[in-house]
Amino acid sequence: MFHKVQLKLSFICCLSTTLIVLVIILCCLNVSEKKMYDQEKALFLLKINTISSDLYLSESIDINWYIRNLITNKNILYIEVNGTPATLSSLILSDKDFSLISDIKKYLQNKEINPYNLTNSSNINQKIFEYALDNQKFLVSNTKLYKSEQEITYIYLYSLEDFYFNVKNQRILFFGIWFFSILILYLFSHIFTLNALKPVIQNDEKQRHFIAFASHELRSPLAVFKTGLSVLKNKPDPQKTKRIFSLMENEMSRMERLIQDLLCLTKVENAKLNFDFEYVNLADLLKSVHEKYVTIAKQKNITLSLSISGNCSYDCLCDRQRMEQAIIILLDNALSYTPSGQNVSLNIYCSHKKYYIQVIDTGIGISDSDKEKIFDKFYQVDSSRKHKEHFGLGLSIAKEICYSHGGKISVNDTKGGGSTFTITLPLRKLPHYKYLS
Ligand code: ADP
Repeated sequence: MFHKVQLKLSFICCLSTTLIVLVIILCCLNVSEKKMYDQEKALFLLKINTISSDLYLSESIDINWYIRNLITNKNILYIEVNGTPATLSSLILSDKDFSLISDIKKYLQNKEINPYNLTNSSNINQKIFEYALDNQKFLVSNTKLYKSEQEITYIYLYSLEDFYFNVKNQRILFFGIWFFSILILYLFSHIFTLNALKPVIQNDEKQRHFIAFASHELRSPLAVFKTGLSVLKNKPDPQKTKRIFSLMENEMSRMERLIQDLLCLTKVENAKLNFDFEYVNLADLLKSVHEKYVTIAKQKNITLSLSISGNCSYDCLCDRQRMEQAIIILLDNALSYTPSGQNVSLNIYCSHKKYYIQVIDTGIGISDSDKEKIFDKFYQVDSSRKHKEHFGLGLSIAKEICYSHGGKISVNDTKGGGSTFTITLPLRKLPHYKYLS
């Protein structure tokens, strides 16, 4: 399912970005072509000026001047003196050029375009035009000037062949880049959507695991009830009945604890728990937890020590009950996974505007690969699954409580063996919760 979503997203992402790139490319092409055309036009006007001033100022014009002013053999210069073609024009221009000139003359007549008179100050820009014939395109000017009672008219055709060739090449280059960008964009969209969907896929996987584990954990007490009831139906002896009731009671309290844990986790995750934030002295809180658990630890032959270090007030804005719950989860685990004769210690210190609460044990420890997973719901390291009263939810609850206080929880190895869990809380930072008054 996610594969299809990813393909769709990559396609949409790629399509929208390629369309944006296409629009940008078209705009760039338009601007660039306009600039190129303006340059050609400027060159053409410069040429007309030179030709006009040379015709006006020079005593006579020679063949070299004529050819030089054509720039390339694709341009055509046709000069008439008093209505008769100039000798140089008749010599240089081919029949094809003459037929083109006569076409242009007809065009000028039809459109009633009069020659541009140099002595008038009218704008020459209005007198030049583009003329196309058999795939050939020209910029054309028809200019008239008077010199010693002679009327000199010339038609200058400036070939736009090179310009359109450059435009074509530029378009091919731009569209080539665009096609190449489609490939890159698709690849990028593919990777991007894959990364964007990763948390959703992981969440979905976690959800499936959660449901599988929850149903598994609920199925076993139900099985005990079912068998117990069928035995009871057959009226067993009082001894057996007592055992069955005790088994059912055990399973019932297990189920009750599991449901309580699940409810607590869901509430903390959805931030619906009515957190009761107040300034709590964390050192005092730790002292009271130590007091409660020192006897339980002693019963397990574990030494539970307490250390309060650092020069700070330990006042922290938090929910006393929830924070105590998180510390007890860690302490409970430490006492469960530490063999008798070992040590567990509760530490608190402050540094860099943060409080650090540590539960350090010298127990069985946690492998590096498990360290990443133990905060996931229902995750239990295989060897520890024998603890029937544990469901693998404690650390998930502790993690959510710490996050709700703007803090975090982490685990490291204890020097010499065992695990060190650290709760980090911000110093007197007010958590931003919408339900806080
Ligand atoms: P559980 O209720 O099973 O203890 P938790 O979420 O509290 O679930 O812990 C998840 C798993 O992490 C445990 O099953 C255990 O394998 C491991 N774990 C937690 N704390 C410790 C510890 N102090 N030492 C060793 N393993 C631990």
